[in-house]
Amino acid sequence: MTCNEQSGEVLDQISSQIMKCRRCPLWVEATHGVPGEGSRCARVMFIGEAPGEQEDTLGRPFVGRAGKVLDSLLARTGLSREDVFIGNIIKHRPPGNRDPKPDEVIACTPWLEHQVNAIRPPLIVPLGRHAARYVLGRMGVEFVKITDISGTVFEGEPFGFPQKVIPVLHPAATLHNPLSRGHLEEDFRHLGELLRETGP
Ligand code: URA
Repeated sequence: MTCNEQSGEVLDQISSQIMKCRRCPLWVEATHGVPGEGSRCARVMFIGEAPGEQEDTLGRPFVGRAGKVLDSLLARTGLSREDVFIGNIIKHRPPGNRDPKPDEVIACTPWLEHQVNAIRPPLIVPLGRHAARYVLGRMGVEFVKITDISGTVFEGEPFGFPQKVIPVLHPAATLHNPLSRGHLEEDFRHLGELLRETGP
């Protein structure tokens, strides 16, 4: 299926199922599921790790401090939240923002697969090592450190149709290490170039 009115309906259905999801125990301590949001016709899909405290409270992705960083990086690239889709590999907040467990990733990622297949974006941008490991893993690519591969363009079919994947550092990295801001800006500059090359 390509992007059309139906994609929006399918995304809405996926979101309501995510809200009721009990495939792993994370829902027990969470306030809201966070399905993700953005354009049903997005050319770029950003995939983060999991909701944090603010996201859990509001049911929306990247609305806390890392979200502010992401918004400013998007603006530098000439993109807004309305142009793209922003989601996560995990849809309910892990307690205390701990790392997602492998069985939670296995339980939750079929939702992401459905979302990618509804939107069919030509570009996927995993934000941080967890999302990068998941998406690149689907392409048979392994890595040790996200900094070794961030900004690199991988081509393949991680979700069953041709896509380009550009993993970047997680925006939250800039909150702990201001040096990573330059690294992320460079990665987003690269992403902007790629979007201009691939047309409207
Ligand atoms: N960090 C993430 O990985 N996802 C969010 O939605 C917010 C912060």
